Amino acid sequence: MTFETFVIVDWAGGNDRGATPKADAIWACVAGQEPVYLRNRQAAEAWLAALFDTELKAGRRVLAGFDFPFGYPEGFAEKLTGRACPLAVWAWFNQHITDEPTVNNRFDIAGQINASLQGVGPFWGNGLAREIAHLPNKGTHRTNTEFPEKRRVESLAKGSFSCWQLSGAGAVGSQAMMGMPVLHRLREAFAPQISVWPFEEITAPIAFVEVWPSLIVGKAPDGTIKDAHQVRALADHFARMPPQILADLLAVDAPEEGWILGVPSRARKAPPPLRNDCFAMPQGAYWTPVDEALAHLKTSLTPVAPIKTIKVRKAAKRILATDIHAPRAHPPTPNSAVDGYGFAGAKNAAEQALLLLEGRAAAGQPFDGTVPVGNALRVLTGAALPAGVDTVVLQEDVVVDGTILRFHGPLKQGANARRAGEDMKAGDHVFAAGRKLSAADLATLVACGVGTVDVRRKLRVGVLSTGDELAQAGQAARPDQIYDANRPMLCAAVRAWGHKVVDLGCAPDDPIALRRLMDKAAKRCDVILTSGGASAGDEDHMSALLAGTGSFALWRIAMKPGRPLALGLWQGKPVFGLPGNPVAAFVCALVFARPSLSVLAGGEWLEPQGFGVPAAFTKVKKAGRREYIRARLEDGKVLAFSSEGSGRVSGLSWANGLVAFGDDAEAIAQGDPVNFIPYESFDL
Ligand code: AMP
Ligand code: MG
Repeated sequence: MTFETFVIVDWAGGNDRGATPKADAIWACVAGQEPVYLRNRQAAEAWLAALFDTELKAGRRVLAGFDFPFGYPEGFAEKLTGRACPLAVWAWFNQHITDEPTVNNRFDIAGQINASLQGVGPFWGNGLAREIAHLPNKGTHRTNTEFPEKRRVESLAKGSFSCWQLSGAGAVGSQAMMGMPVLHRLREAFAPQISVWPFEEITAPIAFVEVWPSLIVGKAPDGTIKDAHQVRALADHFARMPPQILADLLAVDAPEEGWILGVPSRARKAPPPLRNDCFAMPQGAYWTPVDEALAHLKTSLTPVAPIKTIKVRKAAKRILATDIHAPRAHPPTPNSAVDGYGFAGAKNAAEQALLLLEGRAAAGQPFDGTVPVGNALRVLTGAALPAGVDTVVLQEDVVVDGTILRFHGPLKQGANARRAGEDMKAGDHVFAAGRKLSAADLATLVACGVGTVDVRRKLRVGVLSTGDELAQAGQAARPDQIYDANRPMLCAAVRAWGHKVVDLGCAPDDPIALRRLMDKAAKRCDVILTSGGASAGDEDHMSALLAGTGSFALWRIAMKPGRPLALGLWQGKPVFGLPGNPVAAFVCALVFARPSLSVLAGGEWLEPQGFGVPAAFTKVKKAGRREYIRARLEDGKVLAFSSEGSGRVSGLSWANGLVAFGDDAEAIAQGDPVNFIPYESFDL
């Protein structure tokens, strides 16, 4: 689903804030516009209704984000309303809460709910001067333990508050109680044009989502109102987000408690399937430029590999499924970068004589005491700096004379000491989802306290050859047969790209047998690569088979080598029908399948790195298509394979890369720079 209008509302649970814009009121912002000050909830409700009206009339889909919980911890909805349905809580509050600009009954209602339950609580935090029966002032006075303190999403979102807390800085409880009735009325007034995420399928033109600005938006610039800054920044953030990333974030399973949009969901182990029209391209006589075909794949494919949690030490080359924030600072405490003597540094201290204390601090063996000014302590590399020490002098630079330590300055305060968190601070964003973890990354993860990571399960890629003429490697072949060269080549490439290969063998040119093979393959694979039979001829059974699925597209790409690419979903599994010709199959796999498989596997879209290298050949290239030739880098120049005929498999081995020519006409003379892409750039 895509949205055209993004509006973010920073809600408030209190009373009217007056005519002049101020903080802690309701602020709203439509992406691309100025923030709007809304002095009370009545004004906000009217403003939202007018906005929705305009947007619906204009046919624009709206994502409307509100910064309060849409639901309560598990069990509460059922207890309050008899139904485990958060929208029933909305209706209940709408019925019981009275709300006027300068007075409302939220604390009384919270007290009444508490009274109907066992013990004291769960609501707390009376913000009024008068006593409210059954509403404790402190969270610690509660004895009710029926419901979790936080929703699951809040336990994942660091720093978030419990919705039971009704007052105090940062509390959201009042906002939730006072927001739900307003959203309930808007939902009723605009029914069925509003869906509430994640309780309902987001099919209506307006989607209500829960957001939490602090999750994404940084500090407001000095002199600005924080709420105004946050709603603007968050609205722009979602408006700029690629649709498939937003769709991925929206794919959570929290039917009762709700979720904060943007918090990665661990429950999302099984990603949503691809859409039936993900390969749809304008058809006709038009030849699609390579870049357009790639852009289409880049935007329409989404990860299909499920998520699993593994130990960091096993995570090399795996693809991260969630963003990583540092659980702990690195280094956790200040420590010494050298073997030497620690003391309290002064600004560029010159000649120094310090009294050497007894004892020492070594790595893993901290010194318990404090080092007074004018004293020094033996410290070794990696030792936590004891209290009083912020500077270390190298042991090579000192003279120890009994208990007196002397050295010549100047030595900067803080020299040879590592500051706590100088590498990573607790909470720092360390890696983004989609990153393929390197050996170095494992060190970074472990250093900042990560023990396990959510990664994508390896993508299972089926590789199938098709054609009656194919004989299998090492077996006898009739004179009219050729050996199946594509399958070992494609299997090896897929493995080199980090996926799990499922060798599907070879299918005859027979629609029934092919269908049977594909049915089996769809059960075992996440994606299927086939070669051969992908054009529109009599024996092109792969295209014919996919054509019946309603998801099929034959992409005519303006590229040499290459014939049409047949794309489609077979029982929901994406199929890349590559050309049969091994040279074309190889080039199409590198150009189209490699980045596509990476995205399906949960990784990044890949663009191979090419280099400008002088040509040791001449060539006249036609306009209107991209060309890849087999090329060899030798002595700083690029040679072209003697024949451009795409039947010559051996040319692929003679080459150590490809040269890519642009879509326009070109005349290449000896020495002209050409774009050489080594096989290594394709991870081969
Ligand atoms: P097709 O796309 O099925 O019409 O095949 C195009 C050309 O590629 C034909 O000459 C096929 O014999 C050849 N071919 C198809 N599949 C393979 C394969 N797996 N190995 C080698 N050549 C193949
Ligand atoms: Mg064939």
